[in-house]
Amino acid sequence: MPKVYNWQLGRDMDYPYERGRPEHQFAAVFNINRCIGCQTCTMACKSAWTFSAGQEYMWWNNVESKPYGGYPQGWDVKLLALLEQANPGGQVWDTSASEPQNAPYGRFDGQTIFEAAAQQAPAPQQQALGYLPPDKEWLFPNIYEDTSGPWRSGAQLPEHRTWFFYLQRICNHCTYPGCLAACPRKAIYKRPEDGIVLIDQKRCRGYRKCVEQCPYKKSMYRGETRVSEKCIACYPRVEGNDPLTDREPMVTRCISACVGKIRLQGWIDDERSPIHYLVRREKVALPLYPQFGTEPNVYYIPPRWAPRAYLRQMFGPGAEEAIEKYSNPSPELLGVLQLFGATQKLIYSYRITDSEAIGYGRRDQEVVRVPIEEPVIVRPPDHLNIT
Ligand code: SF4
Ligand code: SF4
Repeated sequence: MPKVYNWQLGRDMDYPYERGRPEHQFAAVFNINRCIGCQTCTMACKSAWTFSAGQEYMWWNNVESKPYGGYPQGWDVKLLALLEQANPGGQVWDTSASEPQNAPYGRFDGQTIFEAAAQQAPAPQQQALGYLPPDKEWLFPNIYEDTSGPWRSGAQLPEHRTWFFYLQRICNHCTYPGCLAACPRKAIYKRPEDGIVLIDQKRCRGYRKCVEQCPYKKSMYRGETRVSEKCIACYPRVEGNDPLTDREPMVTRCISACVGKIRLQGWIDDERSPIHYLVRREKVALPLYPQFGTEPNVYYIPPRWAPRAYLRQMFGPGAEEAIEKYSNPSPELLGVLQLFGATQKLIYSYRITDSEAIGYGRRDQEVVRVPIEEPVIVRPPDHLNIT
């Protein structure tokens, strides 16, 4: 199997195909701390893309309550258990091997979904370790909504004794997609210009290998048409063909509709991008289950109140540092956080002044300007609403 470099794991790994990186890579940062679980993002996506017959249980964007919620039910704990079974006690990180550019979280010494599948005996049955969820596990997309994790004795602030948090999920448009590796028809492709992962609806025969081997369960089968479908990163908006914005690239529907302004979209590989800053320089945003090995491109600012061991399992060894940075933000981080949800246009680069955060578009033109601190306005005595 060819070797590819996965910076999230800090090492080379086996992947079924040789892969160059795309010219640009679609990416997003979701700030879990600010999500109110309103599901506006979910409905914005559904009303744009999955409102037709056969798509009733298809939610390309979903927001689930952790630790118990999941769509499909138990998608992550089931795969974690399969990996543990394949490599008992071996799914560990060596954080002493960290190196700022190539291994920011250290080195993952366990097995990825591709490596675990390759050692299946007597011969590999899959390109990536996975399972096909039965229909009943897709039935309740928001099961266990707002349900707290177990009461923990001895927990001290900032970790809460009872806790839950919302996890916002879309396709990660992975650098090394499990869905793409799995497809025997080669119907799945990753666009070289923006790294968006798509399913060719004409080539797909509905074998559901992508559903089985996407570790995030973000490829979904449509019984009506008998082909699989997935999040398309709203590519017509990202391409910048909309007259509404004078053909300036726009962020996805879920991101533009977000009420909590928790989402920011950009390019992970462009050093001028606020996404690159949050993930690669400030390291305040982390990949979801990096140990799966697909190099996912949606990153999360972890919730401050949840147990650290749980967050380390979910976001890797960088969880504590990310929370520390978020809790005591530098002036630059404070400025970049104001850009979340500030415009529907795609921010390519930014500048932070003493008082403002400014975002620039594809042609380096200004697309948004927001104050870093809101002005305090004191109501004058003649307008007081008390007597
Ligand atoms: S999240 Fe799943 S469906 Fe999306 S690119 Fe990665 S492996 Fe494919
Ligand atoms: S719209 Fe934003 S705040 Fe509301 S659930 Fe979605 S991500 Fe959370």
